[in-house]
Amino acid sequence: MNDNSVNTATEARALPDDLVVLNHINQLARGFNSTLELKEIINYAIQALPQMLSAGKCSIFLYEQETEEMVMVAHNHKEAFYGNQDCELRISINEDQMLTRVIREGRSLLIKDIEKELGVKNRSKYASKSSMITMLKLRDQFLGVINVNDPIGRECFDDKDFTVLLNINEHLATAISNARLFAHTKMLAMTDGLTGLYVHRYFQEVLEKEVIRAERYQQPLTLLMIDIDHFKRVNDTYGHQTGDAVLKGISKILKQHLRRSDYACRYGGEEMALVLTQTSMDGANNTAERIRDKIQKETFVYDEKEIHVTVSIGVSEFAVGMNRPQLIELADKSLYEAKHSGRNRVCCMQAASQTCEKVEP
Ligand code: GH3
Ligand code: MG
Ligand code: MG
Repeated sequence: MNDNSVNTATEARALPDDLVVLNHINQLARGFNSTLELKEIINYAIQALPQMLSAGKCSIFLYEQETEEMVMVAHNHKEAFYGNQDCELRISINEDQMLTRVIREGRSLLIKDIEKELGVKNRSKYASKSSMITMLKLRDQFLGVINVNDPIGRECFDDKDFTVLLNINEHLATAISNARLFAHTKMLAMTDGLTGLYVHRYFQEVLEKEVIRAERYQQPLTLLMIDIDHFKRVNDTYGHQTGDAVLKGISKILKQHLRRSDYACRYGGEEMALVLTQTSMDGANNTAERIRDKIQKETFVYDEKEIHVTVSIGVSEFAVGMNRPQLIELADKSLYEAKHSGRNRVCCMQAASQTCEKVEP
């Protein structure tokens, strides 16, 4: 994805202009198709587009369905927006703006003179009055817009510029749509359908990565194994659907207790695993205790039935020289201790001692 330069070799053979342009568009399309990572596609586009269209300014907005906003995901402007380079620019599609005009009118726009054609004044951050705004759309799905401003070396954009942009636009829309589909499929493969937690395979992957990181950077790492107490009884008494609802409710509580850098996973059945990065035993014990207490106090409701459950939690802490299976085994041992010393409790074990540090309901 590094090669965003145009193919000068073709130009050297003095091909007709249109063929040179066609060649550039194909090259750009190959660039878009060389990855399925949305960020890479957008970065490639924002570098290549201004160069190819001889434009001073270019930005790309993607449509966010939940908020009905267009979010600026890339621009080549030198100055920051709203005085902050990191500030995300969002425009509601219901706002009366130049960019939202393409949605209202349902077509891409070539604007030679903004003041005359649209009556828009006060565009001091632009050197020219000419703009091209194209709609990123695949089939009937609106994906966002490309906004191109400030033609270099000419007064305004012309029909040829517009045709080139429309062609690029089509390739970009396809690439964005494929990347989103890929990300969605990846997410589905990683998460458990019932609980929304990461699946067992991803748990093992993440833990392996985090164990290597903890070893290399000497950072603390802890693992929590959580098992619902007497869960079979819940199923036997209220039915499997109720059991499923309880599992869902507990998973929600787990997610609420985690930081962004932690991972909540379904280890299997009614057993869950939490990977707490940069967290030592004290912190993990606190988290485990809060989770245990919250679940104990929670009333899970399904089909007008009220269910109360408790969980047992085993905690292990990474120590230098330990590998992933050893960390899991230690958490398992802690969980076994928690179960056998009465359930509804947290038990923590460190590699050196292998004795249960805390058994406290
Ligand atoms: P303990 O306190 O020793 O953990 O007792 P338990 O009854 O929870 O343990 P056991 O391993 O005997 O039973 C686990 C139960 O979890 C049995 C199984 O049907 C239930 N279970 C596992 N996965 C699911 C699921 O996805 N949905 C429902 N409803 N039940 C599940
Ligand atoms: Mg159980
Ligand atoms: Mg179990």
